[in-house]
Amino acid sequence: MADIRTESVMVIGLGRFGSALALELTSRGTEVLGVDTNRKLVQNLSGRLPHVVVADSTDIEALRQLGIAEFRRAVVAIGTDIQASILTASLLSELEVPDIWAKAINRQHGRILSRVGAHHVVLPEHDMGERVAHLLSGRMLDYIEVDEDFAMVKTKPPRDIVSVPLGETGLRARYGVTVVAVKSQARGDTATFTYATSDTVLMYGDVILVVGTIRDVERFAEVD
Ligand code: ADP
Repeated sequence: MADIRTESVMVIGLGRFGSALALELTSRGTEVLGVDTNRKLVQNLSGRLPHVVVADSTDIEALRQLGIAEFRRAVVAIGTDIQASILTASLLSELEVPDIWAKAINRQHGRILSRVGAHHVVLPEHDMGERVAHLLSGRMLDYIEVDEDFAMVKTKPPRDIVSVPLGETGLRARYGVTVVAVKSQARGDTATFTYATSDTVLMYGDVILVVGTIRDVERFAEVD
C-alpha cells in the first residue's frame, strides 16, 4: 500500500485557500503539484512549493498532460470563478480521480460540486463564520464540529461540577456531554491536556475538552 504521507495531491487554484493548503501539505511531507492559471502567482510560490505549474484546469488535455491519471487525490480550490470550479470538478470526475475535494463559496455551489462528482465539499468561509458565532456567543474557547450533529468544545467547567470527582457529578445525565481531557489551571503555563477519568476532580478555571451533540455542548457551555 502507498505511504499516505508521500502520496501526491494535485491542488488546483492557488489563491489564499489553495496556497495555504499546498504549503501545509508540503511541510507535512506530502508531494503536491500546485496548478494555477495566474503566472505571477505561480512564480511567487515556486520558491516555496517544489512543484507548481501554470495551467488551465478547465482544459481536459492540460489535465492529462499534468499526469492527472497518476493522482489519487485532487483538490479544486477555485472559489470565485464558479464556472471554472464546477467544470474542473466534473473533468476530474470524468477522468476518474478517486478522491476529489472541492471548495465551495456557498451551499448552492457545494451542492452542484457534489452533483458533478466531488466526493468531499468544504465551505471554509461558511464553516468559519459558524465557528466564530459559537465562540462569540458563549463561554467557549474553541469549537469544532466533528459531524453534522456532534461537536468538541474547549471551555471552562461550570461551578456545579468542580471539586467533585467527575464520576459523581452526574454530568452525562444532566448535560448529556462527556469531558474527555483537562488542562489544570493549578499547573500554570506549563500545563498540558491529560485524559479525564471518572476520578478526575476539576477546579474552577481549568480548561476542559467536552464532546457531545451540538445542542448539548452549547447548553453546557452557557452554564456558569
Ligand atoms: P481564495 O478565496 O482562496 O483566494 P480564489 O477563488 O480567489 O480563492 O482563487 C482561486 C485561484 O484559482 C486563483 O489564483 C485563480 O487564478 C485560480 N484559477 C481560477 N480559474 C482557474 C483555472 N481554470 N485553472 C487553474 N487555476 C484557476
